[in-house]
Amino acid sequence: MLKTKKTILITGATGFIGSNLSRRLLENKDNYLICVDNNSSGNISNLKDVLDNPRVEFIEHDIVKPFKINEKIDEIYNLACPASPVFYQGQNAIQTTKTCVYGAINMLEIARDNNAKILQSSTSEVYGNPLEHPQNEKYFGNVNSCGVRACYDEGKRCAESLFFDYNRIYNTKVKVVRIFNTYGPFMDKNDGRVVSNFICQALSGSDITVYGDGSQTRSFCYIDDLVEGLIKAMQSDDNIKGPINLGNPDEYTIKDFAEIIIKKINPNLKIIYKTLPLDDPIKRKPDITLARDVLCWEPKVSLFEGLDRTIEYFAN
Ligand code: UDP
Repeated sequence: MLKTKKTILITGATGFIGSNLSRRLLENKDNYLICVDNNSSGNISNLKDVLDNPRVEFIEHDIVKPFKINEKIDEIYNLACPASPVFYQGQNAIQTTKTCVYGAINMLEIARDNNAKILQSSTSEVYGNPLEHPQNEKYFGNVNSCGVRACYDEGKRCAESLFFDYNRIYNTKVKVVRIFNTYGPFMDKNDGRVVSNFICQALSGSDITVYGDGSQTRSFCYIDDLVEGLIKAMQSDDNIKGPINLGNPDEYTIKDFAEIIIKKINPNLKIIYKTLPLDDPIKRKPDITLARDVLCWEPKVSLFEGLDRTIEYFAN
């Protein structure tokens, strides 16, 4: 192993967020990365441009199983978990909860052994179908604990509780961030998320599939902004534990979002309406006052600019 100033463990490293974060962290020559993934929803090709770097080590491992690591770890970004509703539900539901809960315990144990800082990628899904708008970190949420999304929502909620209990009981240095809808290069074109679906449908000349009447809202954050937020959260003072919302408050209805994509890519396309998935949240928009105050962070990339870069990525 190459000697550097800092050793950083990233779980979910071959996923969309993990691969972008890895690339960004490697820009700092002081960082050595241990990238972990079982490649179930991530893809090793997302890291192909950095795997040869002597400051990168890749370990194929499912974080549901305990994990021994010989190097001294300084920081852990725990990102591993399928994040797309079509991927985390159904036949994968139990594995999703295990990834959230056992994965959190296994990574928290590594943090405890190493006296390392550990960041948990929590989610706007902890707010469920929110009755408060926009969502502020003090809101406790409205999750259907028996529903099809509960494996992810409740799994992530349980992971948050584990993080704060490790902090209270063992003084583990924790950071919990709640990530809202994020998009950009290295999204999986087949994972069924709205941004990748709409862009890929439009690029291939297919009609755009809006679920429900399209009046539900989402607020989209460009990946580079999110990655900056993750790094700022990790570098923040130890007394800043979160939870902290990270997202872009720029809110759109899904129908308006479809029209933006149609206008940008192919104005001849039509919208077709399909059934709204069960428990699909009606509204979502982050209140990022806390991130602005304690991390001095806010998104910089507009939806139009971010979409141009993402469309270019998918077109190539
Ligand atoms: N959606 C849609 N058409 C698609 C994919 C998604 O209308 O082809 C809707 C989905 O029902 C949800 C929103 O877009 O209301 C965002 O879905 P996504 O799966 O990207 O993320 P979520 O925020 O639901 O986790």
